[in-house]
Amino acid sequence: MIKRSFLGLAKPRLQYNLVPDPIQDLPVPGRVTLLLKEPQNGGRATTLKVGDAVKTGQRLAASPDSAEYVISSVTGTVSAMAPYIDAYGQKYTAITIDASGQDDWDDEFNKTPTLDTALRFFEYTPGSPSFKAFADPEKTIRTIVINGMDDDLLLTANQCVVQNEAADIKNGVDILKKMTGVERVVIAVPESLVQQASATGAELKTVRGTYPNSLPHMIMKDVLGQMVEAGDTPEDEGVVFVTAEAVAALGAAFRAGQLPVSKVVTVVGKGGSTRNVRARIGTPLRDVLQACNVSVSERDRLVLGGPMRGIATYSDELPLEPGTGGIVVQDEADSAQTTDYPCINCGECIRICPVKIPVNMLVRFLEARLYEEAAAMYDLHCCIECGLCSYVCVSRIPIFQYIKLGKYELSLIETAEAE
Ligand code: SF4
Ligand code: SF4
Repeated sequence: MIKRSFLGLAKPRLQYNLVPDPIQDLPVPGRVTLLLKEPQNGGRATTLKVGDAVKTGQRLAASPDSAEYVISSVTGTVSAMAPYIDAYGQKYTAITIDASGQDDWDDEFNKTPTLDTALRFFEYTPGSPSFKAFADPEKTIRTIVINGMDDDLLLTANQCVVQNEAADIKNGVDILKKMTGVERVVIAVPESLVQQASATGAELKTVRGTYPNSLPHMIMKDVLGQMVEAGDTPEDEGVVFVTAEAVAALGAAFRAGQLPVSKVVTVVGKGGSTRNVRARIGTPLRDVLQACNVSVSERDRLVLGGPMRGIATYSDELPLEPGTGGIVVQDEADSAQTTDYPCINCGECIRICPVKIPVNMLVRFLEARLYEEAAAMYDLHCCIECGLCSYVCVSRIPIFQYIKLGKYELSLIETAEAE
C-alpha cells in the first residue's frame, strides 16, 4: 500500500519555463569523453584499448559479451581510458576519443525495429531511454508515456524537441510500438504544445505547468490515474516513461539509418539566462559553456540538471551525457548555501511536500545515517525527489541530498542482503 497520498501543492507555486529557446547546433568538438558504466579492469579482459580507431555511431564495449556499452559520438582515436566514479559511487571507465573532424559512420546498426536492436543500440542515446523493463519477464508493460515536459525548472530542451521534431516523434512512436509490442503510447505535454503533440500519433494528455507536475509519479497520478506504491517504480505498475527527445532520436535514427550521437541541453547562465544547444554526446561541459558565453569562476556552482533536482559537480571538464537535460551555472553570491543548523520544526517542508512526508523527522534519521529506520518509519521510499523541501527549508539543511544519499545507501544494503 502506498503510505502517503499526493495531496497537492501548497506554496510556492513554481512555474516551469514553457517558452522553449531555439536550438543552436555546436560544432564537433576536438575531443569527447564517454562514460562506460563498467569499472576499468573490472575482472574482464578488455578488448577496447588506447590507440584504437573508432567510427561515429560505433558501439563500444569493454568486451564482446558485455551488456554495458557506449556509442561513439565522433570518428577518431581512443586516446585515454581511465577510471571514473560519479557522485553516488557508481564506477565507470572514461573513454576519451580524439576526434578527426570528419564523420565516418559505422554500419553495424541494422535498422530492424526489434527489442534486441533497442537494447543493443539505443540505451546510450539522447534522453537515456531504458528498454530493460520490456525484456523483464516479471514485468508486464502496458503503457509507454512520452514525457514532453522537462523535469526541472528553467529547462526547455525536451519541450523544444516536441515543438520542432514532431515528425520524428511520430516515426519514433511507430518504431516503439513495433519494438515493444505495446499498443498504448501516451504523450504528456503542456497546453502550449498541444498542436505539435497532436501530430505525433500518440494519445494526447496535458500536464499543468506547475512544478513538479512533469515528474513521472505526478504524471502517473494526474494523467493516468494510477498510484505508484511506496518503493515501486512506474514500471512495476506497467508503465515505462521515455523522453520526447529519446523518441524523436529513435524516429530520426530509423529515418536516416544512423544512430543519434547529439544531445539537446538547456544552458542556464548566471542570472538565469537560458539557451538550448545541440552538442555531440561526450563534449566537455567547458566547450558547451564557452559556446554560450557562460564563464565559470572559482567558487561558482556548476550543476548538472536543473536548479531543483540537479547535482553540483566539481569540474567543467566532465562530459555531456545522454541524460543531461540542463547545465546550470550559479554565481557564488546567488547560490543557496547549505548549513549544518538544526531543524527548527517550522513545518515548511511538510506543507510543501507533494507526498506529505514528515520531512522534519525523516531528515533527522538520514542525518544520523539510520536509513532503514528512515524508510520504515518516515516514508523515505515515498519521496518523488522533487527537491521542494530543500528549497523551502529555513535552516538550509540539504534535505534533497540527504534523501538521494539515503536511497543510494539503502540500495547498497538491500543488494548486499540479497546476495
Ligand atoms: S524531495 Fe522533499 S518535498 Fe519532494 S517528495 Fe521528497 S521529501 Fe517531499
Ligand atoms: S523546513 Fe527545515 S527547519 Fe523547517 S521543519 Fe523542515 S527540515 Fe526542519
